[in-house]
Amino acid sequence: MKIHEYQAKQVLAKYGVPVPRGQVAFTVDEAVKAAQTLGGSVWVVKAQIHAGGRGKGGGVKVSKGLDAVRKNAEAILGMTLVTHQTGPQGRVVKKVLVEEGMDIRKELYMSMLVDRDSQSVVVLASTEGGMEIEVVAAKTPEKILRETVDPTMGLLPFQAQRLAYGLGLDKINPKLMRPAAEMIASLYKAFQGEDCSLVEINPLVITGDDRILALDAKVAFDDNAGFRHKQQAELRDLDEEEPLEIEATNADLNYIKLDGNIGCMVNGAGLAMGTMDIIKQVGGEPANFLDIGGNADQARVEKAFKIITADGNVRCIMINIFGGIVRCDVVAEGVVAAFKNVGVSVPVVVRLEGTNAEKAHKIIASSGLGKKLTMAKGLKDAAQKSVAAAAG
Ligand code: GDP
Ligand code: MN
Repeated sequence: MKIHEYQAKQVLAKYGVPVPRGQVAFTVDEAVKAAQTLGGSVWVVKAQIHAGGRGKGGGVKVSKGLDAVRKNAEAILGMTLVTHQTGPQGRVVKKVLVEEGMDIRKELYMSMLVDRDSQSVVVLASTEGGMEIEVVAAKTPEKILRETVDPTMGLLPFQAQRLAYGLGLDKINPKLMRPAAEMIASLYKAFQGEDCSLVEINPLVITGDDRILALDAKVAFDDNAGFRHKQQAELRDLDEEEPLEIEATNADLNYIKLDGNIGCMVNGAGLAMGTMDIIKQVGGEPANFLDIGGNADQARVEKAFKIITADGNVRCIMINIFGGIVRCDVVAEGVVAAFKNVGVSVPVVVRLEGTNAEKAHKIIASSGLGKKLTMAKGLKDAAQKSVAAAAG
């Protein structure tokens, strides 16, 4: 689950991470009032959406004076902000964070995430703050520092110090070493304490008066640990989530919307990934990831049909089900009935393998649905037929 920057900063501050003072605002007047309450003469008005790259898209404005705060809040609130993370359709901005303006001396990068290879949390840091870390990793990988945290020991003080040295903080001002190490330790405490899947501070800044602060904050919680953190549910912003994904979650289906035109209905997350791969391999574009789970009964297939076809881009649906525990003939009967009940209007290509596959093929062939519901032989054939159907 993703949360907004202003929420992330509140969470991190609880763990002792230094952040600029700020207030969230939903209207222009609230934004001006927030600036007055914060005091000072320079503020930053920041669009709050669940996507990065806001600065480049015009969603982060340094504002000198209250008039500038008003003007910038007017421009940002209600704007459709397009960044490399929102996709071309962008996101409408419904709230802004108003913060005290910082005098930035140096921008750095720091993040913590779960590294599946080492089965540990890793801390990444770089002197190249404010840049996209993917670009730094591609062009100058030597500029990314890395500390792997042993889960049984936690982040050790020497690791935090090594990162601080690696970032060259001792050269900027030796007095920064202690607060930097403390900040890294606090970030790790927050990561663990909240069961995060990501904490990214880009940029982490050194100010003109040599303070160290999290100027930006991106935090995501691990949904699998949500039961341990009931209070996190309050931070969820449904406005920022894909409506079809919310509907799917409520129906206990694992659905992620994508940009292609071939809808996918698959049992098992691995097979669903493989299905998307093979669609791409034969020149198509998947419209979604969907794992309907092991129990591919008629009710679930119906729900899945509804969610897939609610996406107007879908031109064909590829069903890929392996009958291990579920029997293919039962699935086939469910598919035929669901197809008729939902009134699916795009062609559907079915690949069913496993227990009673032969019987399943006969059920599909005699469904009376003709070309609207066809059977494929094998994965590649299913993908090719789907791509052809979507084009036709
Ligand atoms: P992002 O573009 O969505 O990652 O938003 P950020 O919060 O990272 O802001 C983008 C950039 O705006 C930062 O890298 C800074 O260069 C600049 N910025 C943000 N806050 C301040 C501030 O208080 N003072 C100054 N001078 N620049 C700021
Ligand atoms: Mn940023």
